[in-house]
Amino acid sequence: MANNLKQTTMAWGSPGRYIQGPNELNNLPKYTSKYGNKVFAIIDQFFYDSLTVKLKEQYYSAKNEFYSTVFKSEITVEYISTVSEEAKKFAPAVIVGIGGGKTLDSAKAVADDLHLPVIVVPTSASTDAPTSSLSVIYLENGEHSHARHYIKNPDLVLVDSKIIADAPARFLVSGMGDALATVFEAKANEASDSPNYIAGESGEFRRTKTAMVIAHTCYDLLLKNGLKAKIAAENHLVTEALETIIEVNTLMSGLGFENTGCAAAHSVCEGITAVPDAGKTLHGEQVAFGTICQLVAENASEELLKEVINFCLTVGLPVTLEDVKVNPTKENVKIIAESSVKNSYWAAQPFPVTVESVMDIVFAADAFGRYYKDKLNQ
Ligand SMILES: [Zn+2]
Repeated sequence: MANNLKQTTMAWGSPGRYIQGPNELNNLPKYTSKYGNKVFAIIDQFFYDSLTVKLKEQYYSAKNEFYSTVFKSEITVEYISTVSEEAKKFAPAVIVGIGGGKTLDSAKAVADDLHLPVIVVPTSASTDAPTSSLSVIYLENGEHSHARHYIKNPDLVLVDSKIIADAPARFLVSGMGDALATVFEAKANEASDSPNYIAGESGEFRRTKTAMVIAHTCYDLLLKNGLKAKIAAENHLVTEALETIIEVNTLMSGLGFENTGCAAAHSVCEGITAVPDAGKTLHGEQVAFGTICQLVAENASEELLKEVINFCLTVGLPVTLEDVKVNPTKENVKIIAESSVKNSYWAAQPFPVTVESVMDIVFAADAFGRYYKDKLNQ
């Protein structure tokens, strides 16, 4: 159902700074020194040993104090309060998070607890979460608990494109899936005039024209650079196409979703996560299939459906239920539809849906995916 706003005030939000380039992590001490000389870092388990040694040397030679803690399990309310206590004892001037989404979300939460600036350093371009002003909190058993919202986005998002190029290419491709949805979800929110996610603590606001321009450009750059970037990432090379897709996946998609809003594509993604085996696929992979579902729901033109599905097939994003590890049974699709309608961004679409209509949309998207897959193999 359309979620019409009752006023015309717009809002825009973004990180304070965004810096991206090869080997930029080496410059971290230079960037943190703008905030003070005591740095508390939360670092992903995978990078902890190698990075801690290197960063300690750099900070000590710069006569700055550096304290690091490892992120290794789950981002829960208890974990955040434990790390916040640890940080308080050290009394840092700035918090840094280096790693995947959960590590960065932990750094954002600890910085909020201590009222300090936060710098996030994503080690893959797999989602658009680094730039956002929220953390997703989980329960000890790995189940989603809630989103914690902040009054500001990270102070600095620092992206080392060499680290992204060294990560598995599948992460970059997944990020393209998340970015693929951005323009279609933005247009749905525009059509229904739904509120974006900026300054939610102060009210509901409309999207700016700036946000819409970014969402459109995000899609154009994705189509032009997706395959070239994937091939570069598979060979761990930093090229202009890879740099473009890192920016598309991280900054453009991030600014786009937060400043315009999610819609059907992310609703279907939420539904897919309710099917047990789908946990083996990545967020952006699920969003890519969700995007095809959204286009079916909107009765998009055949040309557009073909363009989006062919893009997915070219870069290796899912186009069918089987591709997202969902056995295409009525029972599974009902789980997707029910969960999708319950945890819903469907309200951002300018038309109503029911569990039954979403089931048909998902089956139809799956059929389109198979149709174009077969055509490609002919
Ligand atoms: Zn997403």
